Amino acid sequence: AEKPVTDRIVMQRIDSTKASEAELLETLKRPSQKSPDAILKIVTPIIEDVKKGGDKAVLSYTHKFEKATSLTSPVIKAPFPKELMDLPPETIEAIDVSYENIRKFHAAQKEDKTLQVETMPGVVCSRFSRPIERVGLYIPGGTAVLPSTALMLGVPAMVAGCKKIVLASPPRSDGRVTPEIVYVAHKVGAESIVLAGGAQAVAAMAYGTESITKVDKILGPGNQFVTAAKMHVSNDTNAGVSIDMPAGPSEVLVVADKDANPAFVASDLLSQAEHGVDSQVILIAIDLTPEQQQAIDDEVHNQAMALPRVDIVRGAIAHSVTVQVKTLDEAMRISNEYAPEHLILQINDAAKAVDQVMNAGSVFIGQWTPESVGDYSAGVNHSLPTYGFAKQYSGVNLGSYVKHITSSNLSSDGLRNVGSAVMQLAKVEELEAHRRAVELRLQYLDAQK
Ligand code: NAD
Repeated sequence: AEKPVTDRIVMQRIDSTKASEAELLETLKRPSQKSPDAILKIVTPIIEDVKKGGDKAVLSYTHKFEKATSLTSPVIKAPFPKELMDLPPETIEAIDVSYENIRKFHAAQKEDKTLQVETMPGVVCSRFSRPIERVGLYIPGGTAVLPSTALMLGVPAMVAGCKKIVLASPPRSDGRVTPEIVYVAHKVGAESIVLAGGAQAVAAMAYGTESITKVDKILGPGNQFVTAAKMHVSNDTNAGVSIDMPAGPSEVLVVADKDANPAFVASDLLSQAEHGVDSQVILIAIDLTPEQQQAIDDEVHNQAMALPRVDIVRGAIAHSVTVQVKTLDEAMRISNEYAPEHLILQINDAAKAVDQVMNAGSVFIGQWTPESVGDYSAGVNHSLPTYGFAKQYSGVNLGSYVKHITSSNLSSDGLRNVGSAVMQLAKVEELEAHRRAVELRLQYLDAQK
């Protein structure tokens, strides 16, 4: 229910020294998400339509959902016309600065050298990487302008050397995507921009159409229709397409101690809370006095009331929580259990505490590092695992755009050295052709002597 705007915006509190572990975990539960089955029922026919109807089907969905009825082609190809990327110089400069930092950080992740190990004399194993040839990058649309997401997905694809970079984003009702996205697409050398959103965009990239390039992997965030469509196509072995990771609402966990500036802490909590009503923000307060805790609460309320998106913030704060703990160890234990997408350490000697971080998407260290810098311009990626998936997934990085290929190369001595182990295991598995592939070579070598 809508609360009156004068209501105080305040996070609930839980004292970890008084609560049971079960109570604590219950409080830290993510807001539950809609059943994927219901959404799959909606997206499956859309995907089938695009598979059969190609361009025409994609266009008709764009006419329907985006009201872009003047659009006659579902894609624009590079080189993109200059008039589609007409931007004020300060925006161009901001994109250029961010682009360069993201490029540098992801370029440093390149594995230039082939990894090579001689496991036994004459038995050489190697591993090398190759770019995924064609990638499809989904940039959510709606009313939002998201050049940062285009940068975070596009720059590593370019650095990795992907041959074809396809962007997809739902156009505005005038049939265009925002000039910021076109400018980023141009900078990363994208092949095309698919002017479509939702399941139809995902299907078009997964299967290809007359004019839309089929891709090998689809990355990027989006609403529940986008997420469900990505899951659907990645489960279709005939599509031959993979996806980045499960996506859920954005979240942050801030760890603050007595040295933290209450205004800074509140600003970090709010910059996450303004993402959406389903966002979650957690504050772990280490041994704060009641006055310090009150100061943070006051800052949250006062800063929130001054934000244009105060209504969204109100929704997010309603399921957000402050956990009071006594020690840093306890704070880090809870943080690792929660596995936040973003972890902000506003504590004394924050850099040292990073040793204790086991599960997190990306860490922001010390009071001069708000999450916003990582969201846009520092160089780290902002496409990160949510919903506790930081326990087993990495955020988007250069590795998301490459495959690793291994090779082995044996000399005749190498085959002699490893041969008996291979033959014995082939015998155990009753795969006689495997065993003989070694045996006949060894016999050949013996005959040469
Ligand atoms: P979107 O691009 O994700 O989805 C728009 C599409 O949804 C439409 O093109 C349409 O195809 C589809 N759709 C809408 N209603 C539908 C219906 N009833 N049936 C079938 N399809 C339907 O844009 P959005 O909806 O504005 O959502 C943006 C999402 O992106 C949010 O969920 C938000 O959390 C996420 N997001 C992520 C980041 C990030 O991580 N970088 C940033 C901002 C937003």
